[in-house]
Amino acid sequence: MSINIRRMDMNAEGFDQQLDQLLAWESVSDTKVNSIVDEVIARVRSEGDAALVEYTNRFDRTSASSMQDLELGQARLQQALDGLPADQREALEVAAQRVRDYHQRQKGESWQYTEADGTMLGQKITPMDRVGIYVPGGKAAYPSSVLMNAIPAHVAGVDEIIMVVPTPDGVLNELVLAAAALAGVNRVFTLGGAQAVAALAYGTQTVPRVDKIVGPGNIFVATAKRAVFGTVGIDMIAGPSEILVICDGQTDPDWIAMDLFSQAEHDEDAQSILICPDADYLDQVEASINKLLPTMERREIIEVSLENRAALIQVNDLEQAAELNNRIAPEHLELSVEDPEALLPSIRHAGAIFMGRYTAEALGDYCAGPNHVLPTSGTARFSSPLGVYDFQKRSSLIMFSHDGASETGKVASVLARGESLTAHARSAEYRIKD
Ligand code: NAD
Repeated sequence: MSINIRRMDMNAEGFDQQLDQLLAWESVSDTKVNSIVDEVIARVRSEGDAALVEYTNRFDRTSASSMQDLELGQARLQQALDGLPADQREALEVAAQRVRDYHQRQKGESWQYTEADGTMLGQKITPMDRVGIYVPGGKAAYPSSVLMNAIPAHVAGVDEIIMVVPTPDGVLNELVLAAAALAGVNRVFTLGGAQAVAALAYGTQTVPRVDKIVGPGNIFVATAKRAVFGTVGIDMIAGPSEILVICDGQTDPDWIAMDLFSQAEHDEDAQSILICPDADYLDQVEASINKLLPTMERREIIEVSLENRAALIQVNDLEQAAELNNRIAPEHLELSVEDPEALLPSIRHAGAIFMGRYTAEALGDYCAGPNHVLPTSGTARFSSPLGVYDFQKRSSLIMFSHDGASETGKVASVLARGESLTAHARSAEYRIKD
């Protein structure tokens, strides 16, 4: 039986409405989830460790008696790293090094300049003191998420990186712990969900409060991050993962089918879109999808995801494909075309751009180097991948010479008096030379 994937034509009547339907995805604003999350946050704030232990035992089916049972020391992380099979250790080390090399280049530097009268202006970059990284662990373990969240913080110079990761039924994932050892994480708590986010945001007797919380998670995590924003910084509220492939019709259709699967297997809400000027090629990819699907371990998830949220879209040419990409602003964009660099200037919005037929998005998930925490749901229109800059703050520097204070003070005085803010005006005027 063949799977039913949406076919669309950008030049057909009604395309705009079809596109709106395809992209529609509301982060489930579930009132039940909201009330659970509100209660969890309130109790962690008022009861601290005791509430963390109780919620963790309840939601993750553990049997902790105190927070001591929910913290892993550095020795345990190192033991996980030392105990890995050689191939896994090497892969993790290569991935960590590639992620580190890439992110080193993002490090912002302080700058300043001096005006003719000796006035100095500038910007001072300071890393955050302490950040929390949420590593999801409910249904699957994500060692790559440890690297992608912790390494940029480490490169930025953050003093203390606190990691939380749920361990359902108390089962620890050795790769996740090994990744924490490699990435420079300082403390690890086996906490998850809203209780972990609340602990990081407000602090408890054992968990130190952090300045910013980053990392993806399920609806409980996302709702809690939204609720604590303001008390702490957050990176983003992530929606389901998305891929958009622009293909010129010359790539092996099996490769493209597998690239679409690689998004779809994340979860039922993940979105996979293929855009191509060649209708015959869209047929070939559809045939590949039907041929390969039965061979996939996660075929049930892939099938639901493709039937609900995928589309094969025909356009006139690659320029029109780029225009459609810019309307969608996808998390991941693959340019599976002969000359991706020629198409690049037309691409305005995408979290990460994978260029050329050999560049599978899956490499970006693990080890290409750039961050895999990317803006979803069209937010690439105004936001960027997680990076070192997310862990650095900027302070403005202003130092007037007496001459500078005198000249610029006259300007401030006029503007302050125009606003009837007399103290502002006089504060500036005191410093004006006679
Ligand atoms: P998770 O760690 O986000 O959530 C598990 C926690 O949810 C549990 O510890 C529990 O505290 C809480 N929880 C679950 N059911 C609950 C209930 N009924 N009441 C209260 N709390 C409850 O793990 P997950 O569920 O596997 O979700 C991970 C998500 O992160 C997935 O959606 C996955 O796609 C996403 N993810 C995204 C990226 C990315 O880079 N964008 C990477 C990895 C994972």
